[in-house]
Amino acid sequence: MAAIATTPKAAQLLQTLSQSTGATLWVPGSLASIENAQIYTSSLKDQIASIWHEYRAFVFCLATGAVVRAIASLVEDKSRDPAVIVIDRDSRFVISLCSGHQGGADELARLIAHQLDATPVLTGASASLNLPGIDILGLPFGWRQGSGDWTKVSAAISRRETVQVIQEVGSTLWQAHLPQGHSFYFGFPDDRESISPKARVWISATKRQFSPDADIPKVQWHPRVLWVGIGCERGTSRQLIEVAIAQVCQHYHLATEAIAGIATIDLKADEPGILEYCRDRNLPLKTFPADSLRQVSTPNPSSIVEREVGTPSVAEAAAILGGLGEVGSRRTEDKGTRRRGNGETGRQLTTNYSKIQNPLIVPKQIVKLEGEPGAVTVAIALSELEYTGRTGQLLLVGTGPGNLEQMTPAAKTAVTGADAVIGYSLYLELIQPLLRPGQIVESLPITQEKQRAQRAIELAQWGLTVAVVSSGDCGIYGMAGLVMEELQALGWNGKIPKVEVFPGITAVVAAAARVGAPLMHDFCTISLSDLLTPWDVIEKRLEAAAAGDFVTALYNPRSQTRTQQIITARGIFLKHRNPNTPVALVRSVYRSDEQISLTTLDKMLEFPIDMLTTVIIGNRSTRRHADWMITPRGYSVS
Ligand code: SAH
Repeated sequence: MAAIATTPKAAQLLQTLSQSTGATLWVPGSLASIENAQIYTSSLKDQIASIWHEYRAFVFCLATGAVVRAIASLVEDKSRDPAVIVIDRDSRFVISLCSGHQGGADELARLIAHQLDATPVLTGASASLNLPGIDILGLPFGWRQGSGDWTKVSAAISRRETVQVIQEVGSTLWQAHLPQGHSFYFGFPDDRESISPKARVWISATKRQFSPDADIPKVQWHPRVLWVGIGCERGTSRQLIEVAIAQVCQHYHLATEAIAGIATIDLKADEPGILEYCRDRNLPLKTFPADSLRQVSTPNPSSIVEREVGTPSVAEAAAILGGLGEVGSRRTEDKGTRRRGNGETGRQLTTNYSKIQNPLIVPKQIVKLEGEPGAVTVAIALSELEYTGRTGQLLLVGTGPGNLEQMTPAAKTAVTGADAVIGYSLYLELIQPLLRPGQIVESLPITQEKQRAQRAIELAQWGLTVAVVSSGDCGIYGMAGLVMEELQALGWNGKIPKVEVFPGITAVVAAAARVGAPLMHDFCTISLSDLLTPWDVIEKRLEAAAAGDFVTALYNPRSQTRTQQIITARGIFLKHRNPNTPVALVRSVYRSDEQISLTTLDKMLEFPIDMLTTVIIGNRSTRRHADWMITPRGYSVS
């Protein structure tokens, strides 16, 4: 990313942004004193022209008119142009000017806006309809774009015309997260329905040729669901392998874009032609021992092959095994074909348009080339869930006590940038403005934390970037521990999926801020919830905190059914502290229904206390002054 400033104020603004995003800051010679900036000496227009193809995104802090003039002769095609963003000099607005979808400018504008606490300005039609752009729909799932008239289909969607979606393969999760009132029609209308779609979206492994004078515009996405099983003689060239795969795909009308990976016997794990082909096309290679391959039943076993390598089938068996084992394929259930609507199944990664009975869609074909030694055997199997080709990430995010202003910019960016956001519904509501169209947003009831963690891991293992949100800090009675425990139980290697934790302001810190400085000295937090911790452990900790004169914050102090714990806790503190010890009861801090009561240990139970309350009990030195609670820092500074 390149950041371009022409005034000192703009340079200052973009310098901060460059530091947090790793962008290169460019300034004219007149601003040569700006630190860590690259200097350009030509005109702005010439400078932009000279670096236009070097960056994937340009961020200007400059008048929009000046930016338009500078880039006018450079913009070519939305599938190739870099993203162009303009920030006004007071950093109130972040405008996605060019390449909003495929170039990623819309998403980048949202991310930068969160960092700067500015308003993103997105003028694309799909943004205002709250729909994902049709030309970026499959990117999170690693789908490849096929041919089609993307501009016309996008236009039909933005006019809210009926757009038919025929999804033959790949995850249907996206369908469950469309906004109400979208105009997609899924599948084929039956005779009784009078549906006349104005555009069509194919999501398929088949390569379709669209005639330029077809009745309606069409586009095609190719989820990567094809596993190509290969058998070949030693020393077969990469060229022959490439031709063989291309020929077989063409003959069966399959899109090479839909190839997930190559599968073969482990004897071929070092076959140069196969390795080169995979490397150049960025395809994974799965290899299997003969013992595994021979277990697979295939239509065309060969006794000659069996004698040579110990399994009667290499290409067919490897293709079938290659397609198994993607995350989620084991979990798919048959739920019947779907017609209209917002994915009624919701959480499944795939639904079975085509519950795959027989995954081998191309039985083995032997391809030879004139003048080329060797022969290649190709077979192709269909996997139920697509290969995303991405390494998943788990972003464990603390959203702060409630108000978005109390959430860190890094946490906001994590939520906005994620492919999927998982959390308890109340917290998801609080962060609603950060969510973007096309994101997979899943809430699970408050009691199902473990399921939430498992779901997040499932999506991340599949390749998505998943934000798991907890209120306050995610590592304090939040989701971070649950996710990491589950990962550990699954034998996680600590690296994949990648985990990043984003801290948040925890309830006790937020509550303390609203009543002054009660935590000035040593303090501790104790949760009174005995759902996951035995009560006698909690009681011991209460005793120790009270005896140790810690300022103590009680989380989860009382629920509708758990009413005795707070009474017992108060009793324990009364054994060690004066009845007049100041106590703060802070409910829904930084939310619209915030409520604060300052009281004493003696009287605290006369006030309402519930699951949205944090209780802060002072230490022996804590005092009350007017409406404030102060714990002395502790050093005598006489
Ligand atoms: N991860 C959260 C804590 C979850 S435990 C955090 O770091 O804040 C839930 C308890 O946190 C509640 O029962 C309550 O005691 C406290 N809490 C959470 N949000 C709160 C808020 N906005 N105001 C007051 N207390 C809150």
